[in-house]
Order: sequence, then C-alpha cells, then structure tokens
Amino acid sequence: MKDVWNRTLLEHAHALEKREYSSRELTAAFLERIEEKDAMLGAFLSVDREGAMEAAEASDGRRKRGEERGPLDGIPYSLKDNICAKGLPLTCGSRILEDYLSPYDATVTVRLRQAGAVLLGKNNMDEFAMGSATEYSALGVTVNPHDPERVPGGSSGGSAAAVAAGESVFSLGTDTGGSVRQPAAFCGVYGLKPTYGVLSRYGVASMATSLDCVGLLAKSPMDCAVLLDALSGKDPRDATSKEYSREALSYQAHSGLSDLRIALVGNFYETATDAEILDGLREAVRLFGDGGAVIETVRLPLPKQALAAYTVLSSAEASSNLSRYDGVRFGRRSSEAQTLGALYSDSRSEGFGSEVKRRILFGTDMLLDENRSFYYVRAQRVREMVRQEMGDLLKHYDLILTPTTTTPAFKRGDRPTPIELYYADLCTVYANLSGFPALSIPFGKNKEGLPLAVQLTARPMEEGLLLAAARFLEEERHEHF
Ligand code: GLN
Repeated sequence: MKDVWNRTLLEHAHALEKREYSSRELTAAFLERIEEKDAMLGAFLSVDREGAMEAAEASDGRRKRGEERGPLDGIPYSLKDNICAKGLPLTCGSRILEDYLSPYDATVTVRLRQAGAVLLGKNNMDEFAMGSATEYSALGVTVNPHDPERVPGGSSGGSAAAVAAGESVFSLGTDTGGSVRQPAAFCGVYGLKPTYGVLSRYGVASMATSLDCVGLLAKSPMDCAVLLDALSGKDPRDATSKEYSREALSYQAHSGLSDLRIALVGNFYETATDAEILDGLREAVRLFGDGGAVIETVRLPLPKQALAAYTVLSSAEASSNLSRYDGVRFGRRSSEAQTLGALYSDSRSEGFGSEVKRRILFGTDMLLDENRSFYYVRAQRVREMVRQEMGDLLKHYDLILTPTTTTPAFKRGDRPTPIELYYADLCTVYANLSGFPALSIPFGKNKEGLPLAVQLTARPMEEGLLLAAARFLEEERHEHF
C-alpha cells in the first residue's frame, strides 16, 4: 500500500474494482496513516477502528459475491463532527456535547452507508461551526498539513486537513458562510457548497438553518460529482430538501467552454487581496479565455452590507438553534446548580466557549423587540437584494469567478479580532445568502508553498456546470495533489 494517499476517490474505486487491493487493506492503511500522522495534525476528534474494519469487510464480501454497490463501495471517508453517525460521538467541537453519542444517522450518513462507504471517524471543527480557523474548537488543535504553523481554515478545518493529508479519501463538512470552501482553499482541496436544499440537513446539528448546507471536501471535481449523485435527492425528513435533476448534476452534459459567459468580480477584494491570489485569478481568466469562454468584469452588490447581513442573520438563527442545549435534554449538565434557572445558565456557561457565547448574545440582541426591525428585518432585506442581484447577474453570465479567500492560510495563534475574522468570509457569504452553489478550486501554491484557490458560483442546481469548469481548469493545469 504505497503512495495511495494522494489518490482520488475514483482512482481508489478503480483499484478496488481491479482487485489491486481490498477495502480491508485500504481501510487498515488509512487507519494506520491516522495513527501515524494525526497526533501532529489533529484532524480527527474520534476514530472508529472497529466500525471501519467491519464496514470494509462487508464491502469486500459484497465484491466477492459480485454485489458491489458502485464507486463508493469500500472507500474510507470521514465526517465533520456536527453530522450524526449512530453510536459515534457528536461533539460539534464543544464541551457541552463532549460526551454525547449520536442516537441515529444523518440522512447523508445513511446514504453513504447504503453506497457502501467506510466511515473512519469524526473531524475537528470550530465550536458549533462558528469560526474560520478551527481555533475555536474546544476539543483540540488542527494544523494546516502544508505548514503546521498555520491554521487549516474553518469551520470544517479537520475535514479539509484530513483530506489534504491523505488521512481520508473525502469528508463531508457544513457551509453556512464559507466553512467548506474556505478550509478547502487553505488546505488545497476541492470544496463544494451545493445549492441550498440539495443535500439533506436531517441529522446535522444546526447553526443557522436558512443558510446551512452540507458540503463536500474531495480531491477532484469528478469525486464531487460521484458524491453528489449518491447523496442528493429529496428527503422527507428535511422539508427544505429538493428533488434533484441528474442532468444538471452531470458535468458530462457540459462539454467545451466556447459558449460560456463568465463574470469576473472586480470590486470588493481588489485592494485587500493577496497579490499571488490575484495572480492565480488572472491565470484562471487566461485559461478560461483560451478555452473559448467570454469573460467580463462586473461588480458584486453590497459587499459590506452582505457581510453584515450574514453576521446578523446567522447569529440570530444560531441563538435560537442553540437554545436546545439547556443542560436538561442532552449534553453537559452542571452538577452544582440548585435551581432550574441556575441549571440552565450554569450548564451553558460551563459548556459553551467564548465565540459561541458572543454570537448567542449578539443574535439574541438582534431579535429583541426594540432591535428587530432595525437590524434583523433590514438584514433580511439586504439578503433579498443580494439574491435578486446575483440572480440578475446569472441571467447574463453562466458563472461568477472570485477568489475564495483574500489571503492564504494565516498563522496559528495570530488570532485576529472577531470582527477581522468575520472579514475572512467576504467572498463566500454570497453563495449562502443567495442559496446558490459555489465551488472552491485549488489553484497552485504561493512562494511559501501554501495552497491558493479560486471560486466559481453558478445558478441554482447547476453544480454540473461548476464541476465541468473545474475539471477544465484541472486538465489545463495538470494539477496533481
Ligand atoms: N466563518 C463563518 C462564521 O464563522 C463560517 C461559518 C460556517 O460556514 N459554518 O460564521
């Protein structure tokens, strides 16, 4: 089992099919890799050796009987620790759920089990998915595999680091304001936030319900296509989930770029963006142009307001969603409290970290009678304007091209202020406010060896086009991880 760490999902699927190795051998190799690397990397919060080996053996059995279930059968993967897998820990990176075990599977987990994939364990994350560096996890430190002095991004930092370091073939994360795309960019893997509702949220701990999406972290656009195919589809347990047309999903439907119109966003990041990221963006423009696409520079609406609206709305929704952690129903319970009121407040004071508390307080404040119309309602209005303008833009163009982030991975411990950290989401919140799909595409490295990335956004349900465009860039650049 040499040098299998950089292989894509489809390469593994092919090797399994050709009996180059068994799922048992592959899974054992990944478990060993985690054992070897993760003490330093910190991408995993828990590892399910037994469960993984059992699932791998079952997969090998199916293959022997000629009953294999498709490309995911026997492939080792991991989940961000806010996605339920029955019987395994579900910590959300928080002390308040430190000892909590999932009583059931999320729909996405069920679908991966049905497809025969092998769950290795759960990945570290910012507490309740709030953050951009995984430094707000209460349960461990994750470092960037390209430079241990730097953060992996967040909040799905453990997922991105695991995939980039070859500790897992792919991982599922969640993206409320950029939490799949930003760590994907920092770690040099693909990060897809699908259209809102394409992947079921059932069994996924909520941060901000109207913005939350399950997202994919993988090593190639084709891997993302395989995963979307297996995971999408209406779920009766999530009223916001959508039926999905396989055609739009299929990137094969999009050959050639000659008729493609791409909007390059020219405002909002130019002055603040790292020079090498801008070079990468120009290179992407050149490649798309050579491929026959028409590229024009446009402006995205309301950058400051979009970010502010995201902050108000996500905090307001989070403050409501997190009220369920009350020390009574599940999770940590304070042992000292004498009254019910004290039980609530002590359990929450002890269990939540400072960023989570900050957002609960801020979000609650936004929803107070005297503030609601001034902040919350106005933020909703900005959201509607953003959605309208993005929709209008995508009537004239097929794709919107931006950077994913304005900087490469920053140093650990170099903690910016909370407000500065919120600015890390400048390029990513648009896709969440509008509900549109967006993909972060790894795009080479800078002089220090840190990954760079560009981001594409498409019309709702046009993930196939995003993946086709990414595939074009991949082929043009002969990128290998
Ligand atoms: N950085 C964003 C935040 O902290 C991302 C959140 C997310 O996508 N889960 O709000």
